[in-house]
Amino acid sequence: MRKKLLIFFTFILASCSEKADLIVYNANIYTVNSSGEQVSSFAVKDGKFIYVGDDSVMSKYSSSNIINAEGLPLYPGFIDSHAHFYNLGFFNDQVDIKGTKSFREVVQKVKDYDKLNNKKFIIGRGWDQNDWDIKSFPTNKLLNEAFPDKAIVLRRIDGHAYIVNDYALSLAGIDENSKIDGGEFVKLNGKLTGVLIDNAMELVNNIIPDPSKEESIKALMAAQKIAFENGLTSVSEAGISRKQIELIDSLHKSGILKIKIYAMIENGPDVDYYIKNGPYKTDRLNVRSIKVYADGALGSRGASMINEYSDRKGYFGIIRTPIDSIKSLAFKLAGTKFQMNTHAIGDNANRFVLKAYRDALFNYRDPRWRIEHAQVVNEEDIKLFNEKIIPSVQPTHATSDMYWLYDRIGKKRAKHAYAYKELLEKSSVIAFGTDFPVEEVSPFMTFYSATVRKDKDGYPDDGFQVENIIGRGDALYAMTIHGAYANFEEDEKGSIEVGKSADFIILDNDIIGSVESRIPNTKVVATFVEGELVFNRRYN
Ligand SMILES: [Zn+2]
Repeated sequence: MRKKLLIFFTFILASCSEKADLIVYNANIYTVNSSGEQVSSFAVKDGKFIYVGDDSVMSKYSSSNIINAEGLPLYPGFIDSHAHFYNLGFFNDQVDIKGTKSFREVVQKVKDYDKLNNKKFIIGRGWDQNDWDIKSFPTNKLLNEAFPDKAIVLRRIDGHAYIVNDYALSLAGIDENSKIDGGEFVKLNGKLTGVLIDNAMELVNNIIPDPSKEESIKALMAAQKIAFENGLTSVSEAGISRKQIELIDSLHKSGILKIKIYAMIENGPDVDYYIKNGPYKTDRLNVRSIKVYADGALGSRGASMINEYSDRKGYFGIIRTPIDSIKSLAFKLAGTKFQMNTHAIGDNANRFVLKAYRDALFNYRDPRWRIEHAQVVNEEDIKLFNEKIIPSVQPTHATSDMYWLYDRIGKKRAKHAYAYKELLEKSSVIAFGTDFPVEEVSPFMTFYSATVRKDKDGYPDDGFQVENIIGRGDALYAMTIHGAYANFEEDEKGSIEVGKSADFIILDNDIIGSVESRIPNTKVVATFVEGELVFNRRYN
């Protein structure tokens, strides 16, 4: 316990020095400023850095709140550029079926949960047929036998498929003749299996009871706690409604929610309201982007591909928003202050979104529109990424998908999948996120996957497609200043510089200099937002 954080609440009476709210000294500070400077000290007042430099801070400033960081590494607070913050908080109320090895085990877990929780409607999350011995989608037979008269909805790990029981199907009004654009009701021998992909899930979403306001607040507070423990001070929320945005704003204003949120508006009826009223911005909330889904995901074969899936003949995936709608939305948004952030995973989705962006943005400088995920990009389309378009990627997706990727799309197409280095070279900025709760919240896993391209067990020995490894410095940028840039917030956060928000974290391991195997186990010692201590491991 040598490396503990010392916080002195001492009143220093110094007549000539300026008063600060907080002084940190004796730290190994990565400022992430434009010259990549490392310093040892800073002072904070009214939530902003007022001095950044060496330990002479002690003679220039006085404070009742002084931290000796004892040489520990200190970074700007991490920004997760693509996450589902609001959903994360609801996890405690759902059955955890992540890591299950068969569908039988999934059903057993739901049964165990049901014994302890008396609920009319059970939601679970985290199954992944790619982890099972039988890697095809299951049917809901076991689920129907166990739960004939209670709705069960189990979400796939990527959030792009459900398996539900027959009771939930009938509540949702789904039968053998149901059809939907941008989705699939999976059948076996003409009969529904209970597996619903992408837009087909909407019919079930309509019958899931809405959480109460109290439940939503509880969920947001739970998500904030997890984020702070992981060193996140800002999160880009990838698609929520006006109602959810307004709840976040009210919790910010009441002071209980402190995490900064870049809220992408889900593409729906709320978009016109925001376009009419313009962007909404406070110190902790920024609403100026629209989240659109072009396609589904690779794990559930919903990603829209130019050529057929290698493991499903004649099947090309799902287009969730018609190409014409993407184009017209792009032209509608191009002249406004709103950024368009489109989920594109398959090479076909990436192609038509990139082309829509290119055409719509022809006359505009610095739009910073984003492709969320940018997972499989055709070799010919890489050049469509440029400084107007930011790839917003999730490095842990690469190391989660690598086990089955070649079966799904073949080695040739996979060569330009998760091609972060290629994307960075074209766009000059890349932003990192996790897509949590799809992946773990840990930014250290993000950093490790991006810079080492191995899983936690060190597999594969040589790393996965290492030609797309991102250097540690670039990875740090992607989690801090480039995340801020992707949100038009680089003047206010993302680096430790005078005038910027004092959002910073102290770690127990220097991820820039650390041996690679230690990176995933890095722990956050303390998290600060606007100079306020919001998480401290010592006192837990
Ligand atoms: Zn997402």
